[in-house]
Amino acid sequence: MSNVFEYAPAPESRAVVDIKPSYGLFINGEFTDGRGTSFKTVNPATEEVLAEVAEASDTDVDEAVKAARRAYTRVWSRMSGAERAKYLYRIARIIQERGRELAVLESIDNGKPIKESRDVDVPIVAAHFFYYAGWADKLKYAGYGETPLGVAGQVIPWNFPLLMLAWKIAPALACGNTVVLKPAETTPLTALLFAEICQQADLPPGVVNIVTGAGDTGRAIVSHPDVDKVAFTGSTEVGKAIARAVAGSDKKVTLELGGKAANIVFDDAPLDQAVEGIVNGIFFNQGHVCCAGSRLLVQESVADEVMARLKRRMATLRVGDPLDKNTDVGAINSAEQLAKIRELSEIGEAEGAERWSAPCELPANGYWFAPTVFTGVSQAHRIAREEIFGPVLSVLTFRTPSEAVEKANNTPFGLSAGVWTDKGSRILSMANRLRAGVVWANTFNKFDPTSPFGGYKESGYGREGGRHGLEGYLKPITTGGDR
Ligand code: NAP
Ligand code: MG
Repeated sequence: MSNVFEYAPAPESRAVVDIKPSYGLFINGEFTDGRGTSFKTVNPATEEVLAEVAEASDTDVDEAVKAARRAYTRVWSRMSGAERAKYLYRIARIIQERGRELAVLESIDNGKPIKESRDVDVPIVAAHFFYYAGWADKLKYAGYGETPLGVAGQVIPWNFPLLMLAWKIAPALACGNTVVLKPAETTPLTALLFAEICQQADLPPGVVNIVTGAGDTGRAIVSHPDVDKVAFTGSTEVGKAIARAVAGSDKKVTLELGGKAANIVFDDAPLDQAVEGIVNGIFFNQGHVCCAGSRLLVQESVADEVMARLKRRMATLRVGDPLDKNTDVGAINSAEQLAKIRELSEIGEAEGAERWSAPCELPANGYWFAPTVFTGVSQAHRIAREEIFGPVLSVLTFRTPSEAVEKANNTPFGLSAGVWTDKGSRILSMANRLRAGVVWANTFNKFDPTSPFGGYKESGYGREGGRHGLEGYLKPITTGGDR
């Protein structure tokens, strides 16, 4: 049967963003050239080089830490919470005002669909700054003391570049710390636009410093002797290296690492809603989500029905131009990540699981991977154990709630889980037995600044978001006082 109508693309205009040919580092309130080399950031949907970005050397990082220390001692730690809040509110409002620009730039540099950067990332980024602005003058009611730590060194990944920046910077500043932040190598542009927003908000120089670069720049930040707090989001492997690097120092550390969440569907769940939740759980943001529902655990009695509905739904997902407002699944963030997803998928096939990919036409240029599901997966398979960080779902079945719990918890990670059932009592008993920082019931991938987020086991330690998110940026009350 031929198509009854032609598809009409609805691309968002990129005229709203002004991408410069080259970018420097943001240190002490100004853009500097940096002393090191530079690297290119590309649009993963087209492989077009977007800009040349300075790579911060150890000396640059040292300068950024010194600027942050000065700003901390002379200005930011002396300011009242109410005054700090004014800056945070101002930043939040500018983010809203420039929301379209931020969303378009995020989609261009990262590859995520504009409907997600516009409707999910940027609104939550603004909400995060509003939320922590509210805490700045109320720290004494939060229960974690009121003394900031000093200079925070923060290193973030590429999957939610601006959102991870907000999760790091908003609570740090609200508590009175200053920051040196490194965005990921493949997605530096919205962090640099955020630096402009700091200028626009008249944030005192040195309170926020943005140093771009690769792993070495990150290493220089976390190992800098004058950094009091290390906040890292990224892979478990690098997280472990950081934990080793700061062991024995008095740096406070929070680590938000990988995950391999179970999305558990019981036979009494409303199946169409569950299918939407499964799709959202693994194909949102191309599956580049630490808390992605990458392991579907479906009750055996409804497994065939769920799989049939899931494949039908997956076949309707629109994969392509991230700037097209109708796109559901955008580009894979980098050639390296695409290679990792392909490799683990090939291992899945070799281990005997059955692979099915949605029939979709992929663009000729750029990095793409069709939404894919593996059935017949056993717990020992690598696709069931390792984080794939892409649009690939592994399906396992279970018969009883206890078996579901046991399989869900059979992972080195513990970041998130989903439960789909009609019974409230079952939701509660499952939530109590699942070893995961977040358990969603009859929904998935919902984020809110008021809600703490973080993991167990190899998913890291510490919480971001909510009142709990303040704890990682304040001196413990028991040992309080100045150093
Ligand atoms: P990654 O390789 O660990 O990189 C994360 C950041 O660390 C990047 O900025 C990276 O720089 C930098 N880095 C690399 N080596 C370093 C070192 N030795 N010392 C200090 N910094 C270093 O992780 P990724 O592959 O970009 O991100 C995906 C991972 O993040 C996944 O495992 C995902 O689950 C996790 N994640 C977790 C959460 C959470 O809240 N738990 C949220 C989002 C993502 P380059 O960019 O140059 O490599
Ligand atoms: Mg890029």
